[in-house]
Amino acid sequence: MLLHLGMSGRLTIGRAGTNATPPAHEHLVLETESGARAGLVDPRRFGMVDLVPTSEEDNHRLLAHLGMEPLSDAMSGPALADLFRSRRTPVKSALLDQKLIAGLGNIYVCEALFRCKIHPERQACTLTEGETEALAEAIPQILEQAIASGGSSLRDYVQADGTKGGFQDLHLVYGREGAPCPNCGEASPIRRITQAGRSTFFCATCQK
Ligand SMILES: [Zn+2]
Repeated sequence: MLLHLGMSGRLTIGRAGTNATPPAHEHLVLETESGARAGLVDPRRFGMVDLVPTSEEDNHRLLAHLGMEPLSDAMSGPALADLFRSRRTPVKSALLDQKLIAGLGNIYVCEALFRCKIHPERQACTLTEGETEALAEAIPQILEQAIASGGSSLRDYVQADGTKGGFQDLHLVYGREGAPCPNCGEASPIRRITQAGRSTFFCATCQK
């Protein structure tokens, strides 16, 4: 089963038979023999569910074009350098490009660039070996921290048990426009710019 939550879908896990009134916008319910109940709630309907033989996974139209998996062994400095070599697009946009790296969203790209002290408007092809190495290390670290703290709850995201994630409390730049830079302080407040229609948060002093 291939399942995508879209922008704001969520999977709630409970016990079968305990949910007399299904929540609004619950489009799919799965009950297992052991009595668990999983419900897919997706108010905006950007989510997606499909059945696909495991052997066909890589050819599925929603997976075939996806790039490198950031939590796999494929993620490395040289691999990133290869992806960026001929790209003049801003590094922020390159990192968000799902055809290059799969599953990296806006929050985690902003956080990774800040931690690696890389300016989001830099052309991807200008990154040094040290910078691609740093990114290859920071990206999986940030994703793992986010997963460990239950994700980022900004508006409506909650975990399967209905509780909010805690990673938003660990954001160093994302959503912190005007706040002092956690690295260089009051002198350089976090700035917000728009790149390809998405907000980018960064420190103009720390990120070169
Ligand atoms: Zn700074």
